[in-house]
Amino acid sequence: MLDVLVIGGGISGGSAAIYTAQGGLKTGVIDSGKSQIKQVTKIFNYPGIKEISGVELLENIKDQVIAAGTEWNEGIVETVKKKDHGFSVILTDGNEFDTKHLIIATNLQTSLLESLGFELAVNEKVPSGKIKKVLGIEPDGTTNQPNLYITSLLAGLSSQSVIAAGHGAALGISIVTKETGKTYMWHDK
Ligand SMILES: Cc1cc2nc3c(=O)[nH]c(=O)nc-3n(C[C@H](O)[C@H](O)[C@H](O)COP(=O)(O)OP(=O)(O)OC[C@H]3O[C@@H](n4cnc5c(N)ncnc54)[C@H](O)[C@@H]3O)c2cc1C
Repeated sequence: MLDVLVIGGGISGGSAAIYTAQGGLKTGVIDSGKSQIKQVTKIFNYPGIKEISGVELLENIKDQVIAAGTEWNEGIVETVKKKDHGFSVILTDGNEFDTKHLIIATNLQTSLLESLGFELAVNEKVPSGKIKKVLGIEPDGTTNQPNLYITSLLAGLSSQSVIAAGHGAALGISIVTKETGKTYMWHDK
């Protein structure tokens, strides 16, 4: 049984996993390898990094996720089932993971959210008017369903990688704080 499982190992999910694993929680990621950032040849607006390709940024994040102690799994999540003390997550290949806290960081993919009963609306921060968000999400990604969290675009934020990373980090900190009962802060010297 994991403490935290992240569905989606893109920018926001990866960032959340770095923080929950570094905060001492047994964390897993399941990722289907389709992060939007892979489409970006050069990123110029990630503060602190003058220029980087999307693929390199994503690889760096994955390296940090694994270095923090997270179990990284490639695969596609097909079903999420609520259980008494958490969630059971089932992949298309039949593999199953049990977790106490579940983070949905799937960006454009909304099918899991619909099956969990969340209400969707247009994310008005994206000009096309075609992108969805979930209604009623707290600023840190907490939902109205216990131990279930949503990041980034799906939480109504803008489509920017630094915002996705910051949102994942804020959520990771909230979950560690909730789980340990101590305000979590990660400061290196
Ligand atoms: C064309 C384009 C250009 C962009 N240019 C910039 C830019 O210059 N600067 C900038 O800051 N941002 C840019 N962005 C936005 C940036 O890509 C996003 O802000 C960022 O990728 C969002 O991170 P995320 O974690 O929310 O989603 P993603 O990084 O897309 O990650 C979502 C992950 O979830 C996984 N997933 C989805 N469903 C499942 C499932 N059922 N099971 C398992 N895994 C699943 C996907 O495979 C993916 O890896 C651009 C986006 C696009 C499309």
